[in-house]
Amino acid sequence: MKAVVVNESGNGVEVVEHDLPKPGHGEALVKVEYCGVCHTDLHVAHGDFGAVPGRILGHEGVGIVEEIGQGVDSLKVGDRVSIAWFFEGCGHCEYCTTGRETLCRSVKNAGYTVDGGMSEYAIVTADYAVKVPDGLDPAQASSITCAGVTTYKAIKEAGAAPGQWIVVFGAGGLGNLAVQYAKKVFNAHVVAVDINNDKLNLAKELGADIAINGKEVEDVAAMIQEKTGGCHGAVVTAVSKVAFNQAIDSVRAGGTVVAVGLPSEYMELSIVKTVLDGIRVVGSLVGTRKDLEEAFAFGAEGLVVPVVETVPVDSAPQVFEEMEKGLIQGRKVLDFSKI
Ligand SMILES: [Zn+2]
Ligand SMILES: [Zn+2]
Repeated sequence: MKAVVVNESGNGVEVVEHDLPKPGHGEALVKVEYCGVCHTDLHVAHGDFGAVPGRILGHEGVGIVEEIGQGVDSLKVGDRVSIAWFFEGCGHCEYCTTGRETLCRSVKNAGYTVDGGMSEYAIVTADYAVKVPDGLDPAQASSITCAGVTTYKAIKEAGAAPGQWIVVFGAGGLGNLAVQYAKKVFNAHVVAVDINNDKLNLAKELGADIAINGKEVEDVAAMIQEKTGGCHGAVVTAVSKVAFNQAIDSVRAGGTVVAVGLPSEYMELSIVKTVLDGIRVVGSLVGTRKDLEEAFAFGAEGLVVPVVETVPVDSAPQVFEEMEKGLIQGRKVLDFSKI
């Protein structure tokens, strides 16, 4: 079968022929239809989290169960399921038993610690594969599997409520979904901040009330404070320290800043503002199986529509290059259905 893997040097991607996997106890074999390309795949491919040469990439996979292993009763042949970054938790630790399973210290991650979804066939742990509802386009579902659930969870963590202001920093693959969840699911008012006008125009089309180009405005936070009175929540998807610092200054007293993007730097946090204004700063990482089920449901209802472009599997190396250069609008999704 064809698979997109980390190259032998552990610093790039290549498309190779790979052995077909067999489902073991508790596992299922999935015939992959689509797998999105995420910024995290780029980190894995570059060895930023440690080199994993030969690993099959991908954690935005969607496909149809073709075979189930022994002891599986949560899936059946023909089900459409996800292959997500949160591939499996231990099921019995403090985090797994308190609704915070993505923090499990023994977690397995698809496309990083175990083989992922960028191949014609993939293995999933049956109890951890979330079913994709009927009525949701599988290419769009692939994008919800990571980008969608990540932003849905982040908007939840921001405490968004109807009528409140939420600012989203970064209007790319994650940000445009964050705008949609904030606006269409949580009925919030939304500010989108980016340095790319094309991405900002897309954000406006998707429901942003205010779009701000950080390169064209001298003081982004001051402008947000002036226009909104300070946002109730900020979600930072931008891979930029500047955005994190602006987010802190953009929220009103009692506001929450949710960190999602992963620049390898430290943010500046005014202790005085944090204490006196009662600011909460929280990190948010993908979502639980329940979060993903909810995110899929909003997709199936047509409330949130991921912007996806399907591309041939062989173009994977170019897609990774484009992503590195920040040229991708929405999400590029590898199409395994046409192999
Ligand atoms: Zn991802
Ligand atoms: Zn656990």
